[in-house]
Amino acid sequence: MNGRAPDALGSHRVLQPPGAMPQTAWILDATPEVRSNEILCEVEALNIDSASFRQIVEASDGDEQRVTERILALVAERGKHHNPITGSGGMFLGRVSAVGDELARTASVRPGDRIASLVSLTLTPLRLEAVERIDMTTGRVWVRGTAILFASGIYAKLPDDLPDDVALAVFDVAGAPAQVRRLVRPGQTVVVLGADGKSGILSCAQAKERAGPGGRVIGIAPDPATPGARLLIDQGYVDAFLAVDARDALAVRDAVAEVAPELADVVVNCVNVPGTELSSVLATKEDGTVYFFSMSTSFTAAALGAEGVGKDVTMIVGNGYAKGHAETALATLRERPPLLAYFTGRYGSPLSPASPPAS
Ligand code: NAP
Repeated sequence: MNGRAPDALGSHRVLQPPGAMPQTAWILDATPEVRSNEILCEVEALNIDSASFRQIVEASDGDEQRVTERILALVAERGKHHNPITGSGGMFLGRVSAVGDELARTASVRPGDRIASLVSLTLTPLRLEAVERIDMTTGRVWVRGTAILFASGIYAKLPDDLPDDVALAVFDVAGAPAQVRRLVRPGQTVVVLGADGKSGILSCAQAKERAGPGGRVIGIAPDPATPGARLLIDQGYVDAFLAVDARDALAVRDAVAEVAPELADVVVNCVNVPGTELSSVLATKEDGTVYFFSMSTSFTAAALGAEGVGKDVTMIVGNGYAKGHAETALATLRERPPLLAYFTGRYGSPLSPASPPAS
């Protein structure tokens, strides 16, 4: 610890640099000893943020052993999983092993409860003993280790009716469908970039419901033949699917203009690659809104890109948290059996049972 009294935001766990908060810190103290206002967890799995996982896989030439070594080295160095290149982290699934004295009076969890963290791994003290298995397609990493949640940290008990891995996948991107519900109005045109990924599919489904029969949802991703793209098209979660590279700003603008000449009221950016800010801006109508959920978003590229093309659009940073986001995200699945079946097939590990019934 750094000598500070334990505080709800976790500043007492910051080792470097002095004065930083846990998210901005370079190094956290991940010693697995619970302080009065902390929750100590045994970690079973990490859901590495998609932009971060993609970067680590690419830097390791797709070699699973090197991905393992990179994750272990990163966490050993920083006391948290905070990818310095993408700036993003992910979240964890685990079991509560201790609740600090002060927090025990108000916390809704007890030792033994299984939870998913709803705060980023970029601010979560984490110590890993081992990486046991990696799903190279989804970024799920099964580990042995410990993590600390601060009093300010949010978490969710794992639902009884869904496999743990499915819940974790949904919680990871829960901010997106919740924000889409807030942003989209009946009759509007919505474009979702990265439409066939986790957050993209949930966003399309919510956008479709909110825009209603008079609105239109346009999904963009590279390949119309992926299972995710087929789901979107077959279930009518999109009215049009455009197979376009989101990094090609003019191609995106032209493809969107072909199906929606007036362009989009709301653009939701859910891609996991850099370089898509201008595409998002160009697909948006004057006075429209761009919601940058992607962690690959550059503030500079978005701000200067919009200025450069003279577009007066509102740009929203994708806050990972929105009130009730976990419940909204789970409801998005539960209310749509085909979507639930897709997520279960893609993200539900056969080794991961549904959580035991709540006692
Ligand atoms: P995901 O499931 O991996 O989906 C990524 C999507 O991007 C896929 O549809 C992928 O298409 C698409 N894509 C990749 N390259 C593309 C290109 N050149 N053109 C068009 N589409 C492209 O990722 P996710 O878990 O939904 O996460 C999406 C983004 O949200 C990531 O950047 C992640 O870091 C971020 N995120 C943000 C928060 C937050 O709090 N704001 C929280 C969690 C995640 P293919 O599948 O066909 O390659």
